[in-house]
Amino acid sequence: MTAQHSLMILPGDGIGPEVMAEVRKVINWLENNKNISFTIQEDLIGGAAIEAHGTSLSTETLEKCRTVDTILLGAVGGTQWADVDYAIRPEAGLLKLRKELDLFANLRPAIVFDALANASTLKTDIVKGLDILIVRELTGGIYFGEPRGIEDLGNGERRGINTQVYTSSEIRRVGRIAFELAKKRQNRVCSCEKSNVMESGKLWREDITALHDAEYGDVELSHMYADNCAMQLLRDPKQFDVIVTDNLFGDILSDEAAMLTGSLGMLPSASLGAPGTPGLYEPVHGSAPDIAGQNKANPLATILSFAMALRYSLEQTHLADLIEDAVQDVLSQGQRTPDIMAPGCTEISTGAMGDALIGVLDLSMANAA
Ligand code: NAD
Repeated sequence: MTAQHSLMILPGDGIGPEVMAEVRKVINWLENNKNISFTIQEDLIGGAAIEAHGTSLSTETLEKCRTVDTILLGAVGGTQWADVDYAIRPEAGLLKLRKELDLFANLRPAIVFDALANASTLKTDIVKGLDILIVRELTGGIYFGEPRGIEDLGNGERRGINTQVYTSSEIRRVGRIAFELAKKRQNRVCSCEKSNVMESGKLWREDITALHDAEYGDVELSHMYADNCAMQLLRDPKQFDVIVTDNLFGDILSDEAAMLTGSLGMLPSASLGAPGTPGLYEPVHGSAPDIAGQNKANPLATILSFAMALRYSLEQTHLADLIEDAVQDVLSQGQRTPDIMAPGCTEISTGAMGDALIGVLDLSMANAA
């Protein structure tokens, strides 16, 4: 039977539409070769939406997003909107989408493809084969806690205030996502906080432990202070499977882990909410105005984001594996967009990278026949 899924595509600005065109090739290939079919809507977000509707995310687009199985986004932003008011900036549309859909868990995989292992700043043997997943709490913690602000103390001094605050339910819902994901991977979760110096960290550790004991005793759980985790990510990153942590520590640790892999053009991400709500899948990179319109952008981060959607929202694990393996193969063949170009490899365009991937997928079908 053909699996049927609904998909909202939001290409956005800059290189967004270029990289999304390559995802479309992969979607078409799946529809033509596998038992899967997509009902696709495409809409505007970011600067493109400002130009058309005067707002970076219209109410109509948001409402359509609520009704689909999953959402795929390119990137938003650009120099032409740099002076626009913060409230209607291209980036505001993306923040609004995440907030309205209550996407509280941000998934950032750090995978080192064999062919790119020497692009990392770390020694090849430290990163080769790396496959870790950071689950960052995205809608709570110190970025949102009250009170916040800058106070004038009246004596020439000022005081800046932010508040780290978490409730048990906020901790448990992101913890549950981490445990569930670990079950589909190597079954190990490392929870990171600063329970040695922060009450919110103590609560975090207690609630993650209680959740583990009550519902996920079959998953291996360890705890680590976030500063130690930052160090361990550089010393021996392969010790980790899933790392779950709060908004602030996750912001820092996920960027650190991403850089182990060497290239922005290769990094996918997902933001998930409660079960039954659509996930948002997007590359980590932005709209890259410096290369937009030049057919130079690496589409693999967006294609890998689509693979994540297949894995985490659409329960199509084997198709996600198929796409990730095809990416591995294309890179092994030495086909490279300029951002990941290396000596002895062939430099190709955005479109040619998409075509090369389709070529590998065709070959996999022919070999399986
Ligand atoms: P950026 O990620 O757009 O670009 C940083 C550098 O990486 C640039 O040199 C760019 O050419 C390169 N790069 C990025 N993606 C690439 C790809 N797929 N292939 C090859 N090279 C790639 O970050 P920036 O320059 O700081 O921001 C540009 C705009 O994007 C800004 O308006 C910013 O606000 C926005 N932005 C959006 C998102 C998002 O949509 N999620 C994320 C980050 C930045």
